[in-house]
Amino acid sequence: MSWSERIAQGLQSRRQADAYRRRLAIIGGNGPRLQYRGRQYLNFSSNDYLGLARNPDIIAAWAEGASAHGVGSGGSGHVAGYSEAHRDLEQRLAGWLGYERALLFNAGYAANQGLIAALVAKGDMVLADKLSHASLLEAAVLSPGQLRRFHHNDAGSLRQLTRAECTGNRLAITEGIFSMDGDSAPLAALQRGIADAGGWLLVDDAHGFGVVGEQGRGSAWQQGCHPELLVVTFGKAAGVAGAAVLCAEPVAEYLLQYARHLIYSTAMPPAQVCAIDASLDAIIRGDGLRAQLGRNITRFRAGAAGLGYRLAPSASAIQPLLVGENGRALELTESLRERGCWLTAIRPPTVPVGGARLRITLTAAHQSADIDCLLEALADVRRPA
Ligand code: PMP
Repeated sequence: MSWSERIAQGLQSRRQADAYRRRLAIIGGNGPRLQYRGRQYLNFSSNDYLGLARNPDIIAAWAEGASAHGVGSGGSGHVAGYSEAHRDLEQRLAGWLGYERALLFNAGYAANQGLIAALVAKGDMVLADKLSHASLLEAAVLSPGQLRRFHHNDAGSLRQLTRAECTGNRLAITEGIFSMDGDSAPLAALQRGIADAGGWLLVDDAHGFGVVGEQGRGSAWQQGCHPELLVVTFGKAAGVAGAAVLCAEPVAEYLLQYARHLIYSTAMPPAQVCAIDASLDAIIRGDGLRAQLGRNITRFRAGAAGLGYRLAPSASAIQPLLVGENGRALELTESLRERGCWLTAIRPPTVPVGGARLRITLTAAHQSADIDCLLEALADVRRPA
């Protein structure tokens, strides 16, 4: 098949499955209200869980950082792109989260790819929760290790898989809060399961960091668990972008030798580092924001319970409505948009086939009235029983 034929076929197969993906040029997509083609919508699609993306102190920190350091880092951290600002933030993160070291990456995707590619060797076994994020699963598939997937949030299933013959090391992978389901992993049980087989646990806490745990330290802290490898990201609750890997000293030194996403990539701009540092201040002081988010979650779940939708068992800011068919999910998002509510249909392959859903995200920047508008719109568009 030629390039052109392959591309035409790939596009066609997405269209046929109602799974064609489009990006829309939105204004203000990180806030509680966004604009699209001149119309305003309530935004239930943003991962800016604490409403920090528009926090004036963080914006000022970024602007001052840019004035002081310029807009780019100038190169890889291994050349001249690593600054005192990077070092200080890494040390602050490590101390605050109880690790020996933190390493900044440009994105959560890059952190997961770089970490897994550097660590997993031939003969190793990666045991991943079935619903793990694409960045984790893809890294495991591309690695020379063997990938096995355990049933979602099932420590018994993980244990079962650890019985298989493995000549190398075992790495269990999960998320703190699952990105498309909103539920939390039983981290302590998973860690016991993998530790009993002599392996390590990697927790990607993209959706827990800043939101749960004392002062927002995340899912592992909340559950009293200390995974050997922790990934936190700054594009969600922190409102900025970027990520960090938290680990022990020798692991960090090893990653500095072998993690290609660190070595061969331009380091994060120092101004962005300054913004993340200011965001960390806001997260630490953010009990009020977390309480507001909690009230919004409670209000939404109480109101949605009687509407006849399938709500996911989620206590987090991610509140998916499980719809099933792609076409129905698209139809619902269209009808909700007509009523001024912006949310996104998530379809396979991002979620399992038949698992299309409306991924509703709530934030601390939503007011009670916003949640009520969403509930009203959902009541309007539901299918008659
Ligand atoms: N891990 C998880 C669980 C995620 O949901 C995401 C973002 N969708 C990532 C990693 C990637 O993070 P980033 O957006 O910083 O690349």
